[in-house]
Amino acid sequence: MQVLIIDVSKCPECNSTKIQFNSKTHELYCQECGYVMQDRIPVIEAKYGKAEKVYINPKEKKIAIVIKGILKSPIEKKMTPFYAELKKFRLPKYVEAEVISICKKCVEEKLTMSYSKLKLLSATIYLVSKREGIPIMIKGLTKTYGVEKYDILKVAKFISKKFNLKLPNGDVENYIIRITSDLNKEGELTREAIKISKTLNICNPLIKTAVAIWLASQKLKIKLKKYELANACGISELTLRRNLRKSLN
Ligand SMILES: [Zn+2]
Repeated sequence: MQVLIIDVSKCPECNSTKIQFNSKTHELYCQECGYVMQDRIPVIEAKYGKAEKVYINPKEKKIAIVIKGILKSPIEKKMTPFYAELKKFRLPKYVEAEVISICKKCVEEKLTMSYSKLKLLSATIYLVSKREGIPIMIKGLTKTYGVEKYDILKVAKFISKKFNLKLPNGDVENYIIRITSDLNKEGELTREAIKISKTLNICNPLIKTAVAIWLASQKLKIKLKKYELANACGISELTLRRNLRKSLN
């Protein structure tokens, strides 16, 4: 794959840094002197904006432009609505990451031609949260995205089959590793929490994870906030407090 990278840090004529990309004429030009650095750039999708870096793949006739620090590849651009809609649900970061990676696959496979973005997103959230043992109700998805239960289940079944998503449930040790890393506190806390989790008598793996991490943080005097931890685990702060009380008795 041959990729042409154009230096758009400054204009070769007047040294101005105001290089703009015109999405109508497909030109990179200097806003100060009007010098056109490159014209007829093969573009599938591009936005007007202050260009920082431009990658052009002439063979595939694709362009990716870094506008204000964000790399906009054609796939990334199609992902933008997914990111925005996903934020309507408060999910742990590792779940969000999983949802996004599956949605990306859907976009790459052009499933957006057969199903609406919201159907794909709500079905994916349903699948991932179910797999991770996070209590997300179909009712909530319907209310947020306006997608009917029947459609969520149908699309979920399709995605699950297409990408072979029948992965095993995460065990407590895996949850502890992922969540301490979500909280940027991996290392000693991870090891101690895993040790403590083995002594806990709690069935729900996410609650067990939260309690173990909290107890470990107290023992190691690592600062942590209960609501942050509860959020990261996808449980309520109240559930965490209640189970802490139980395990301390
Ligand atoms: Zn110039």
